[in-house]
Amino acid sequence: MNAPLPVDVLKQHLIDPEICIRCNTCEETCPVDAITHDSNNYVVDPDICNGCMACVPPCPTGSIDNWRLMVRSEAYSVQEQFGWEELPKEKALPAASPTSTPIEGADTSLDSPLSQAAETLAAAPAQASFTPAGASVPPWSAAHPYVNLYTHKAPMTATVVGNYRVTGADTESDIHHIVLDFGELPFPVLEGQSIGILPPGVDAQGRPHHARQYSLASPRDGERAGYNNLSLTVKRVTEDHGGAAAHGVCSNYLCDLAKNDTVQVIGPFGHTFLMPNHPRANLIMICTGTGSAPMRAMTERYRRRIDSGENGRLMLFFGARTERELPYFGPLMKLPRDFIDINLALSREPGQPKRYVQDLIRDRAAQVCDLLADRNTCIYVCGLKGMEVGVLDALRDVTMQSGQDWSILHEVLRREGRLHFETY
Ligand code: FAD
Repeated sequence: MNAPLPVDVLKQHLIDPEICIRCNTCEETCPVDAITHDSNNYVVDPDICNGCMACVPPCPTGSIDNWRLMVRSEAYSVQEQFGWEELPKEKALPAASPTSTPIEGADTSLDSPLSQAAETLAAAPAQASFTPAGASVPPWSAAHPYVNLYTHKAPMTATVVGNYRVTGADTESDIHHIVLDFGELPFPVLEGQSIGILPPGVDAQGRPHHARQYSLASPRDGERAGYNNLSLTVKRVTEDHGGAAAHGVCSNYLCDLAKNDTVQVIGPFGHTFLMPNHPRANLIMICTGTGSAPMRAMTERYRRRIDSGENGRLMLFFGARTERELPYFGPLMKLPRDFIDINLALSREPGQPKRYVQDLIRDRAAQVCDLLADRNTCIYVCGLKGMEVGVLDALRDVTMQSGQDWSILHEVLRREGRLHFETY
């Protein structure tokens, strides 16, 4: 049983290029930098991946969860994976394949060390060696999400029934509220989930554009309650993250759509950034820019049942440069103050000091701690990638000030599915 293996078998981690929506979550999550990408694919380097599974729960599509038992010397290289349009068919290991050429020196009988090693590897439990900042499970009372109902190979066609700008016309930030209708076809969604949009046309290599992901801005029962539709909050990308001019393929396509145009949709995606379903659950929502989309969806879910007596407390921290660059500013400010506690952090409002969401979390420390002490409270953070560290620091500071140990509370929030991040 414990004899040395004649052949080194690898449980190779692969990403399905047909399902992957290139959201970069896996590459950011991987603690050992085993995941990389080119303009075609996201791939896993077999020489680096240690199978720690850190990337698996955050992947919104499940495309990351593919494994092949391979003789290590035959593992698919990074370069090979870059060229894939689909996953290759599974190959039988030499020991299990009657037609394959035995590997020199290997015992290829079914009870051989090689097939035993393969079984052991296949059944090997995930080794957790990395702790992400947010939870990898949904809140205990979240409704069951449907995911991947529509795929690249079989997308759904939706019709645009609304498209209008929700930021001041005189601002640089061109953010649109887009309503898509699914007609008679099922597209069940929950607040916090996202969908993928397949922009028409091809990229510089002549390949169809890959899908881009957008969070739902409407609640589960539709942008208009009882209708089979949903809404998105899309920012027109006109410059890259470094500020250089760029023409975002999908965001410009979406922002330019007219009523009655059709769009190819895949998804839904997401099984953890979901709201609690039990009565009197509180939500702390922290967002910037289009990160407000899931917060709008959750807030609207609460607003529609405002008279039911089921609602807990809502506390919103919302950051933008100016009021006029805040999507949905007008409707947001019309919500009753006893329904939602709104805290606006403006970083470039003329005549006002720069404020960021983390500043306001510290300003409202007592109320935040009060909510955090309640096990019915869930926290959602969505928006710019860079906001995670600042928000975590602020949450740590306010809990420490109140005499609590943040490292313990943080772990409890993660374990109980009560702290969620979605940044891009
Ligand atoms: P691309 O053609 O892909 O990129 C053009 C250039 O712009 C590239 O240089 C790229 O690096 C840069 N770039 C890409 N994204 C951005 C950005 N957001 N800001 C500045 N520069 C960028 N976007 C929304 O507008 N609303 C949402 O609700 C939303 N939800 C998302 C949810 C998830 C889980 C994820 C992963 C992303 C989400 N996004 C959302 C981002 C969205 O998927 C696209 O990345 C974005 O619209 C840009 O796509 P594009 O095709 O227009 O740009």
